[in-house]
Amino acid sequence: MNILFAASEMSPYAKTGGLGDVLAALPAALRARGHSVSVVLPLYRGVREKLPNLKPSSLFLNLTLNREQLSARVWEGVSESGVHLFFIERDEFYDRSHLYGTQTGDYADNAARFIFFNKAVVELARYIQPTPEILHLHDWQTGLVPAIVRSKQYALKTIFTIHNLAFQGSFWAFDFDLTNLPGEYFSPPGVEFFGRLNLMKAALLLSHQITTVSPSYAQEIQTPAYGCSLDGVLRQNHHKLTGILNGVDCDLWDPQHDHFLAAPYSAEQLKGKAENKKALLNSFHLPSGNSPLFGMVSRLTTQKGFDLIQQTIEDSLLNIGAKFVLLGSGDPYFEAYFTNLAKKYPKQVGVKIGFDEGLAHLIEAGSDFFLMPSQFEPCGLNQLYSLRYGTPPIVHNTGGLADSVEDYNEDTGTGTGFKFSWYEAGGLRQAIQRALKVYAQPKALATLRHSGMTQSFSWDASAAEYEKVYTAALKS
Ligand code: ADP
Repeated sequence: MNILFAASEMSPYAKTGGLGDVLAALPAALRARGHSVSVVLPLYRGVREKLPNLKPSSLFLNLTLNREQLSARVWEGVSESGVHLFFIERDEFYDRSHLYGTQTGDYADNAARFIFFNKAVVELARYIQPTPEILHLHDWQTGLVPAIVRSKQYALKTIFTIHNLAFQGSFWAFDFDLTNLPGEYFSPPGVEFFGRLNLMKAALLLSHQITTVSPSYAQEIQTPAYGCSLDGVLRQNHHKLTGILNGVDCDLWDPQHDHFLAAPYSAEQLKGKAENKKALLNSFHLPSGNSPLFGMVSRLTTQKGFDLIQQTIEDSLLNIGAKFVLLGSGDPYFEAYFTNLAKKYPKQVGVKIGFDEGLAHLIEAGSDFFLMPSQFEPCGLNQLYSLRYGTPPIVHNTGGLADSVEDYNEDTGTGTGFKFSWYEAGGLRQAIQRALKVYAQPKALATLRHSGMTQSFSWDASAAEYEKVYTAALKS
């Protein structure tokens, strides 16, 4: 099949979260299965430095944005895994310090920035060879593409993947003019949702197939509790909705060959893990010792369960001498809270506010347990990495966390991590206590680690599931 991916992130060129990791891995996995795959992204600041083979092409796309005629130069390159890449250059939109906004909020012109990108994607698909038959779109930043394709009656099939339903690209009605779609599209069967332009909703209705990143999340988002007000739209369209769990990029996340680690290790030879714990504690200027170490790498938002962490960390972890390290950035409230916590417990708590790829790997390797008590979690990648790195995750039983972690059973010694069902401090507290109990039994801990490390979350298996969705789209 000929497939063009369009997205706003792809690691290592542009990444704020799991979306970037998926774009780095899934196109490559499909290519390895014999498909012709390319990816198109905005040409953000810094991409040129990260991709030395990137070259300007002779292709300029001339696009209408409301009443303006704007052109965009297309740049071309090839990823390390051999996937053909296109970047859309329009510096006034993409040459900025961040992808979506700064600490003070989203960029005010995000509607224009991404509607422009969507128009460029559709035009590009008409010029490249071989001509794509499938457009695989990701999250609201590409949500207008199905509407454009339908309005122009192009013979392209659109697949839309929801990575996080909470971010919808909802803009005031006046931004509809930026779409240049016929007026009837601003209606309930089109791109309008309660009087606003909603790019996520537009994609759910007008794409040929919808996927999301775990089977449990596919069910959850059809309920009012998780549907972010789009549950009705999803229920109406459940016949074209599939949940496919993300995989792990086993080249990037391999404790035996990870240049960010202090020592390599494997499921059969765990010795190096202790050295990574030492290096991790050292990097946070924390004393080494035998006390259990809990790690987190995360965007600092309430979605990731930081309210529960805040309610439990002192009584469940710090008061019993355990240690905690955190890498993340986001909500200034949580940034300040954890920075102060590190000051209060200088020998037990290490906090780094920021984005640091290498430290993320070291936390996965050097921690004893990984905390991920998300309120909701479409898939989650960090728990998959922690399983692979022998660091049992402690998770809320939701979405992709429910689908990827098997609860530890102390009678049989089976399972890969610790789950709690009700989203409340008591649930997390109990899960932490169960983890601490296993920590005190080295043999049980070794078995638990081994079970996690030998799980398979291959992208090849996910790619095979996506092929079925593409086939269904081609038949529709
Ligand atoms: P989400 O996409 O909701 O943020 P995921 O668990 O799916 O959560 O993916 C997060 C990805 O981003 C992982 O690869 C994780 O290691 C990475 N990540 C998150 N925060 C940071 C950070 N501060 N520094 C480095 N990597 C980070």
